Amino acid sequence: MWDTVIGLEVHVQLLTESKLFSSTSTRFGAPPNTQAGLVDLGFPGTLPVPNRAAVRMAVAFGLAVGGRIAERSRFARKSYFYPDLPKGYQISQYDEPIVVGGSIAIGVGERVKTIPLVRAHLEEDAGKSLHDLYPGRTALDLNRAGIPLLEIVSSPSLASPEEAVAYLKELHTLVCYLGICDGNMQEGSLRCDANVSLRPSPEAPLGTRTEIKNLNSFRFLEQALTYEIRRQAEVLEAGGTVAQETRLYDPDRRETRPMRSKEEAEDYRYFPDPDLLPLVVDETLRAEAQTMLPELPRARAERFVRVYGLEPYAAGVLTSSRPLADYYEAVASAVSGKGKDSARTAAHWVMGDLLGALNRQGIGIEACPLAPARLAALVLRVEDGTLSGPKAKEVFEALWAGAEDVDTLIERLGARQINDREALLELVDRILEAHPRQRQDYLAGKDKLLGFFVGQAVKASGGRANPQELGALFRERLGR
Ligand code: ADP
Ligand code: MG
Repeated sequence: MWDTVIGLEVHVQLLTESKLFSSTSTRFGAPPNTQAGLVDLGFPGTLPVPNRAAVRMAVAFGLAVGGRIAERSRFARKSYFYPDLPKGYQISQYDEPIVVGGSIAIGVGERVKTIPLVRAHLEEDAGKSLHDLYPGRTALDLNRAGIPLLEIVSSPSLASPEEAVAYLKELHTLVCYLGICDGNMQEGSLRCDANVSLRPSPEAPLGTRTEIKNLNSFRFLEQALTYEIRRQAEVLEAGGTVAQETRLYDPDRRETRPMRSKEEAEDYRYFPDPDLLPLVVDETLRAEAQTMLPELPRARAERFVRVYGLEPYAAGVLTSSRPLADYYEAVASAVSGKGKDSARTAAHWVMGDLLGALNRQGIGIEACPLAPARLAALVLRVEDGTLSGPKAKEVFEALWAGAEDVDTLIERLGARQINDREALLELVDRILEAHPRQRQDYLAGKDKLLGFFVGQAVKASGGRANPQELGALFRERLGR
């Protein structure tokens, strides 16, 4: 068996209005080459000017992960030829990145594992080559050239494809929470390169790695790593050596293929960009970034456990996105203090019926047609015993479909649970009378029949009789 070592380089597209070094719009989906200005294409005589919003976002990220914010960092030119980079170099940061260190905590089974970060730096994106539009030709769309990216580099401390996916998910949640990325992986707003190597034991020095480029989904990351780990193991077990190279993942064939041998940093001829001054993060900018920081997902989940009494699992689900957490919190604060389990009941309804209904209609929580206050009203009627479980579901469906308020619906649907002792006793007697044989069997020791009696009574009441109360009354009547 081999010890697996993985490190990820994640590119996060920053959610700015304009590009990293120009005022060109970053709006997604514009016709090709309508958002590629002279600065973005590096025309002679133009000068790049750093986008303050992008810098602020990078600093906010650095603060959120507990990294060190460099008061002075530097932009460097990374020179290479590729058709989607007509100016021949990409402006990036090299030996003086804006964020150094920091860490991301991930859940591994029951444990929390801390993954140290190496750095996070600002760079501009390149254009896009389109190979499938015209047969035998390549088309270029330079709208993406100059869009700000934050590249986040992890230390090689991820030990399996599962950990790599957990790390990427954690990072995804974080940048969305921070509001610095829209998180849309299909549109390429967050993509990653995965570095992986094997070694005989955790004590051995790091093995030779390969780098799998441009993975844009959690599933592809997992599949690509799983394939690549098996491939490297086979090479090593056959007595061979792994070549240090860059590979591409082909999702259709579910395999990685060599793309090019790995270039060394020297090949890029990095040097400080002479058009740009050192990037200075002063107190003002730091303070601005600080005010962007919301309560972060982990802290929020811990608070949900503490304040609302949720299970850690539920707290994790409910804080997986900021709008979902906001929604839950709106419901929970409307019901808390009213009923001892109300905040937990609220969690149950948000995670169950509400997410189910949203899923069914293919909409996100941001577009949820049911206001938190209306769901809260339903939760309260469950808590105070007005609604039984099945009736509450019926009311939920009606609530989802229309505008009536909960109490009106309860009356209209005749959904009010029967808790009244006299009314329930009447039901109990009726059921016992109708089933004399079962009554005999129960008295002779067939305890399971209690469930049968309760079921019959609930049915006879049109689903409205309170089953807990019924159970107690049957026992009372039957004397055991
Ligand atoms: P480069 O910039 O040449 O790609 P870096 O040293 O900056 O190389 O590392 C890039 C990524 O590769 C980091 O995420 C790091 O954790 C990871 N990495 C480095 N060495 C290894 C290795 N031997 N096995 C797996 N991952 C590695
Ligand atoms: Mg790299």
